[in-house]
Amino acid sequence: MNHGDDTIAAIATGAGAAGVGAVRVSGPRVPEIARAMLGREPLPRHAHFTAFRDGNGELIDRGILLHFPAPASYTGEHVLELQGHGSTVLLDALLRRVVSLGARLARPGEFTERAFLNGKLDLAQAEAVADVVAATSEAGARAALRSMEGVFSARVESLLAELIGLRVHIEAAIDFPEEEIDFLADPVIGEKLAALRAHLDALLVETRRGVRLNDGIAVAIVGRPNAGKSSLLNALAGQERAIVTDIPGTTRDVLRESVTIDGATLELADTAGLRESEDIVEREGIRRARAQLERCDVALLVTDTDHADSDLAFFDGTPAHATRIVVINKIDLADKAAHRETRENHETLWLSARTGEGLDALRALLRDLATAGAGEGAFSARRRHVVALEVVRDHLARTADALHDSHAGELAAEELRQAQQALGEITGAYSSDDLLGAIFSSFCIGK
Ligand code: GDP
Ligand code: ZN
Repeated sequence: MNHGDDTIAAIATGAGAAGVGAVRVSGPRVPEIARAMLGREPLPRHAHFTAFRDGNGELIDRGILLHFPAPASYTGEHVLELQGHGSTVLLDALLRRVVSLGARLARPGEFTERAFLNGKLDLAQAEAVADVVAATSEAGARAALRSMEGVFSARVESLLAELIGLRVHIEAAIDFPEEEIDFLADPVIGEKLAALRAHLDALLVETRRGVRLNDGIAVAIVGRPNAGKSSLLNALAGQERAIVTDIPGTTRDVLRESVTIDGATLELADTAGLRESEDIVEREGIRRARAQLERCDVALLVTDTDHADSDLAFFDGTPAHATRIVVINKIDLADKAAHRETRENHETLWLSARTGEGLDALRALLRDLATAGAGEGAFSARRRHVVALEVVRDHLARTADALHDSHAGELAAEELRQAQQALGEITGAYSSDDLLGAIFSSFCIGK
């Protein structure tokens, strides 16, 4: 990849007609392009009202030219912003003019990628730029903005500093073999490691919440075939999406539906009845259902009054941090007098997916779960960050084992080194080109 030795340009505002639109340019050729567009030397960070003209001197548009000399710009390079009317045709003409003066069209996310490579943003902040743009709820946008400003990164950096401190301590012990045993038995090391693990667990909780604010909560609907899972998914989604039949095992794959309730996003997944199957297609569905289950935030068990207790086994395989909800469905069929006992440790709701009775209570509960903790200080995050933190958590557990069981300093040091590596991947201290490519290519053009 070429970074910063060429000059990139793109329309930086949304597609379609709007009052104002902008073309953004970044790179070494910006000063000469700016001079050519303005007809003289622009003042730094000064709004010049001017006429934008093509190569033949024909008027393209009138608007504002802004020059941000490096390094005090979004990308850290020379940046030029041309603001005109928000017409796609005029903006295209303006972009062609800039390209004729020596810029090339930017790839998606390339401005932000350059900002990252020039140290203007770390990787988690750069990802948050895309998340701010893509946010569908106000809570999500606010949280993404906090991550963009570095709230999440600061937490990661502080954990990193703690981890490095411990690593230095242990590596020093290894360097003095004659004292190693005493050194590693030092209670201070154990205390530091315990504190580090506690801080990591706390950050993991907040990061999971951050993913929920960004992506919405992942809700896995589980239960016996014919319990009414597909019907419930349809009722929540308000449309005929899943196949509803009387034949058990009809839902052969994971059906997903994105539902917004009062600005809170839910990713619903109707899992195929998780049971043994000879059918290859169904087995694949079951495999995917399991995967869906293992990463859900909320597990919704659909059952009825007769099976509620025995069906609790369907919760097996849901992560420990997931909220479990028991939905007793088909109350339109049940004896009205059937008493409604709550299942121990589980939120229990009674409803009818067919008539819609009781559905509002479920909606309200899901909405509250999706927006829980969205207040003061909440930051957004991505699944990639949670995975990295889980890797760190596992390495720290093995560090503790190494220290307790065998006083194996070398092993503990190696685990800590790998933990540091995983943590560094969040902010991009260690990152492969593949990872960067995957992250920035998902941006929109002009960001
Ligand atoms: P799934 O296999 O768990 O996805 O179950 P379905 O959603 O396909 O439903 C199985 C059968 O139960 C269908 O005939 C539905 O119409 C019926 N059903 C689902 N929910 C209700 C309900 O609340 N009341 C009644 N009476 N029937 C329901
Ligand atoms: Zn179904």
